Amino acid sequence: MAAQENTDFAAVDLIRSKRDGDPLTPEQVDWLIAAYTDGRVGDEQMAAMAMAIHFQGLGPDELSRWTAAMIASGTTMDFSGLSRPTADKHSTGGVGDKITLPLAPLVAACGVAVPQLSGRGLGHTGGTLDKLEAIPGWRADLTNAEMLRQLEDVGAVVCAAGSGLAPADKKLYALRDVTGTVESIPLIASSIMSKKIAEGTGALVLDVKVGSGAFMKTPERAAELARTMVGLGTAAGVRTTALLTDMEAPLGRTAGNGLEVAESVEVLAGGGPADVVELTVALAREMLAGAEVDADPAAALADGRAMDVWRRMIAAQGGDPDASLPRARHTEQVRAEADGVVGSMDAYAVGVAAWRLGAGRARKEDPVQAAAGVEWHRRPGEAVRAGDVVFTLHTDSPERIPGARAALDAAVTITTTAPEPRPIVLDRITAD
Ligand code: URA
Repeated sequence: MAAQENTDFAAVDLIRSKRDGDPLTPEQVDWLIAAYTDGRVGDEQMAAMAMAIHFQGLGPDELSRWTAAMIASGTTMDFSGLSRPTADKHSTGGVGDKITLPLAPLVAACGVAVPQLSGRGLGHTGGTLDKLEAIPGWRADLTNAEMLRQLEDVGAVVCAAGSGLAPADKKLYALRDVTGTVESIPLIASSIMSKKIAEGTGALVLDVKVGSGAFMKTPERAAELARTMVGLGTAAGVRTTALLTDMEAPLGRTAGNGLEVAESVEVLAGGGPADVVELTVALAREMLAGAEVDADPAAALADGRAMDVWRRMIAAQGGDPDASLPRARHTEQVRAEADGVVGSMDAYAVGVAAWRLGAGRARKEDPVQAAAGVEWHRRPGEAVRAGDVVFTLHTDSPERIPGARAALDAAVTITTTAPEPRPIVLDRITAD
């Protein structure tokens, strides 16, 4: 393979250095990211570099330079002209994680603007835009001017990130996805934080998921990722904190696009599953603290102010907040085989089942079904009798049901004694 020459560096020399554990200089990092973005460094060399980083890591100075270079590969946004402070939330992704839907209008109802640039789902975790697209008429693509107007008028916007933000990450993330280099803490941290810093939010809360349905399977790895991201955000002038939250069991009672919208609307109406309400309020408190606004999100949820903002937020993007959500053409029930208490429910298995039913995509160009997904009628700690319905499967394609059933085969354990209740928020990580 020929080295790609530049007046300054040859990519192969940089790969060798990193492979052998030597740090990259700031100039080398800047050159590599710029050259990869404009095609002077090819995918094969960047794949080798990503693998070298996977094994050797990046030191703190290399990591902050790497993140800065990814930000510099594209445009940045500026919300300083808005009349209120901004705060955003990023979740590392989990099953049934619909929190952005009630959270963005809730925080806006408390006086903080929420610019939530989101993505579509890939694999077993759903994407926020896929969920909102289940609402008839709602559109994800806004111009920057439309986004700013909505932030000023409504206070919350959830829309697709433009292609101008951190284009180096777009290319590198797609490459990591197919080269076994996603699970590297410096690469995940720089990927997420380059986009969030380029987006220009004043405050940021990271919801770092831990457990079977998450990227990070252990609290130790999740805490390391959280500390790395909080460090990057703080150094870039973004007030950043992180919550480590449980993803051993799926969140709420549904996974699937339209199903999760319906559950979010229940939360905004003052009901909904306790874990979704608790996490929404906990993240809202962090965002308000980061934006230095003293308000009570639990009150804004209870008195309907968050619901008012939700309705305006959906309508501003062409959606009809009163329209019925799509219903799946086929449903099937999965029943318990024994009496007892639900001991555990495997988030990953539920995510795979929802995905197989059509809620998610295997390739980024695949369509998703708005009504497909899984509803669970029992959660860990709840009593069950043999023959009770534990899951309802929803899909437009009945041929997908056996695959979903197979994914759920061992998803639930039924025990004789109730498991210890698990807190939803496991830890809080700050810059201090
Ligand atoms: N999400 C991202 O945006 N990047 C990663 O590397 C992992 C999750």
